[in-house]
Amino acid sequence: MRLAIISDIHSNLQALTKALEVIQERQVDEILCLGDIVGYGANPNECVELTKKHCSTILLGNHDLAALDPSAAEQFTAIARIAALWTGEQLQPDHKSFLGTLPYVARRDGAMLVHSSPYEPEEWHYIFTALDARAMFNSFSESLCFVGHSHVPGVYAEQPGHRHVNRDGRFIVNVGSVGQPRDGNPKLSFGIFDVENWEYENVRALYDVKSASAEILKAGLPNALGERLFAGL
Ligand code: ZN
Repeated sequence: MRLAIISDIHSNLQALTKALEVIQERQVDEILCLGDIVGYGANPNECVELTKKHCSTILLGNHDLAALDPSAAEQFTAIARIAALWTGEQLQPDHKSFLGTLPYVARRDGAMLVHSSPYEPEEWHYIFTALDARAMFNSFSESLCFVGHSHVPGVYAEQPGHRHVNRDGRFIVNVGSVGQPRDGNPKLSFGIFDVENWEYENVRALYDVKSASAEILKAGLPNALGERLFAGL
């Protein structure tokens, strides 16, 4: 059984379409989504529809919540707040009610899945570094926890010295972002987890950044949201 784990699509239809193409080529059995389907990009409705169609498990992200409840966007940067309000206006009512049903946490095949962090998932803490991750290992009992939220892919081991996911250690794995990578690499990011062999791979792929950026401009969203896609920031 091979699982594709995607996260942080952020209404980027070009990136999501490409990710689904790559996933299909990679003979994956199931797709799980760690949340933030919407926010920042120009195609929230299409992205909700596609995610709903292709993913067996979908979690709630902070930008999904902010599109439903503007008070959840109060801590956002100015451009993120503008995008959240715009997204809230664009989303079809049935897509809004669907987002409203999504859970914060799921458990699957010995792994915990969460949008932000295993510690207080509703508080949207970020994991950027090994130090951030180290503080979180007491917050879950599984040996593996998949996260998104920071848009920076990475594998963090509880015990130093483990660089790849294996059965002997415990790991927090950030699958990165499909629709707005922030590690200086504009290629979309997601993970493939082989449940039998307990192997994890971070997959990167080029997508049509130009079109995604042009759609953002056309929608009247802040310019910077399109620009950052070229830099992967
Ligand atoms: Zn996000």
